[in-house]
Amino acid sequence: MSPFYFGNSLLYYLCRRLIIVNFKDKKMQQEEKVCLVCKRNEEMVPLVRVDYKKNTYWICPQHIPVLIHDPGQLEGLLPDAGNLQAG
Ligand SMILES: [Zn+2]
Repeated sequence: MSPFYFGNSLLYYLCRRLIIVNFKDKKMQQEEKVCLVCKRNEEMVPLVRVDYKKNTYWICPQHIPVLIHDPGQLEGLLPDAGNLQAG
C-alpha cells in the first residue's frame, strides 16, 4: 500500500466526517421550532422553550396553560406528561 493511498483514504475519511457533522448541524437547525401542541412556528407565534428530560421543546403562549393546568393533555407529545402534576 503506498503512503498516498493511506493519505487519500484518511482525507476521504475526514471529509466524510466533516460532511456528516455539517449535515447533522443542518438537520438540527432545520428541526423547526414549533409549538408541541399546535405546531405553529416562531413566525406565527412567540415560542417559549421548555427543557425536559434532556430534550428541548417549544410551546406557544396559548398552550402554556395546558402545560401548567392540564399537562395530561400533552400525553404523547411530552414524555411522561400523564404523570406531571397540574399547577
Ligand atoms: Zn400552541
